[in-house]
Amino acid sequence: MNHNVVTRFAPSPTGFMHVGGVRTALYAWLFARKHDGRFILRIEDTDKEREVAGSIPHIIESLKWLGIAWDEGVDIGGPHAPYLQSERLALYRTYAEKLLASGHAYPDPYSESELEALRTKATEEKRPFLFRDHRPATISPWDGTAPLRFRAPRIARYEWDDLARGHLGAGEEAIDDFILIKGDGYPTYNLAHIVDDIEMGVTHVMRGEEFISSTPKFLSLYEALGATPPAFVTMPVILGPDGKKKLSKRDGAKDILDYRAEGYLPEAMVNFLALLGWNPGTEQEFFSPEELIQAFELSHIQASGAGFDETKLRSVNQHWMRLLPTEEFLVHLEASPPSALGGEASKLDQEKLKMAVPLLKDRAHTFAEAQDMLSGELSCLFTAPVLDQGKLLQKEISDRPGVALSALESVCEALKSLPTDVSSEEVKVAIMPIADAEEAKGKGGRGAVLWPLRYALSGQEKSPDPFTLISILGTAESLSRIQKAIAIL
Ligand code: GLU
Repeated sequence: MNHNVVTRFAPSPTGFMHVGGVRTALYAWLFARKHDGRFILRIEDTDKEREVAGSIPHIIESLKWLGIAWDEGVDIGGPHAPYLQSERLALYRTYAEKLLASGHAYPDPYSESELEALRTKATEEKRPFLFRDHRPATISPWDGTAPLRFRAPRIARYEWDDLARGHLGAGEEAIDDFILIKGDGYPTYNLAHIVDDIEMGVTHVMRGEEFISSTPKFLSLYEALGATPPAFVTMPVILGPDGKKKLSKRDGAKDILDYRAEGYLPEAMVNFLALLGWNPGTEQEFFSPEELIQAFELSHIQASGAGFDETKLRSVNQHWMRLLPTEEFLVHLEASPPSALGGEASKLDQEKLKMAVPLLKDRAHTFAEAQDMLSGELSCLFTAPVLDQGKLLQKEISDRPGVALSALESVCEALKSLPTDVSSEEVKVAIMPIADAEEAKGKGGRGAVLWPLRYALSGQEKSPDPFTLISILGTAESLSRIQKAIAIL
């Protein structure tokens, strides 16, 4: 246990949260919790042009839905407040002044047209244009209106140990003099995130592999500031189901809250995302958040890409749906999106709905799917079907007409001796002998009885077995449906 662990999730408010971002937050949170450390939510809003209105509440809602809770952050404050970078400009300015004073930064002296001329010259001479080749001989004072550039060191190549990827190196190309503070007074990501990670005492930085190539820049800035860099933990790329291409929108790179709308459970999403690039080193597949915190180890984060398997997500979700007590299951069902039924499970017979829960748990992988079933293959539990004579007779045998009719009549007799509330087992005991007798005659077999019975009750080719149907409908309603079928025949 390392109580000093501090991790952060530092999204830019540029839109919704997709699975990749959420997984980064999740790993940072799990690691902090495991070590009884702190987890920070910081918002990196220094690029005002890319900002999308409404992103911050959306990010907060996404994390809260998943139960990823922060100890300090934008909405709750904390010892390093504020946690919105646009409210920390004075701090970045102090750091910039420090770098200026120590000779590690200089105000960019060039106007747009001068820069253009320098670029054209470089192109003509067939060499790359680098700011570092045009550093001013004398450094003029900085009034904050010109961009402030970092005076990058000559050494280009850096090597470091990534806690997920092992030994890494980058920086074959010269690091150019990158901007620290832009002309609009906002810091760049390069400066701002480093200042914040230092100030907030961040010990471990989890982020995507697109940052590996910039790490030499970060390391040189840490050096110039005389600060120790945090440990880097590079997240595995998330690949599409084919395990090759990067995850596309169609494959699941969508807004995480869409999954909520489709009726996924947060426990399932967390379970699934944790295993998307991390493994416990055992065969265990299902983890509660508590179990994840216990089991989580950085050394078990894979270096290679992780394939996003929607089938797996669905089966993990079904697992968590099945664990819900009936009442809770129904609360989630109510909250799931409108279907053909109008999403109004509340309008259905609540007793029958409760009895349908085991059927839904058996069949549905999401609550949206469960809703669809209530208006589809399970609708017969709530509304009497319209029957088709041809379908009723589908299993008739040509040389013995009338089997369906006599079967339904025998079933009626058997049902009359049962109370209205019966278990499916009791129904089975009462009806199976009729089907068995048919089986003994050969030809149509049990289906000659069970098919017309199931169809009379459900009006559908695909439905739960007739014993379950009768136990949910009650014998009175079942008898009335079977009698209607008899009337048709
Ligand atoms: N604001 C950066 C982003 O959203 C964060 C990168 C980092 O974690 O340092 O990509």
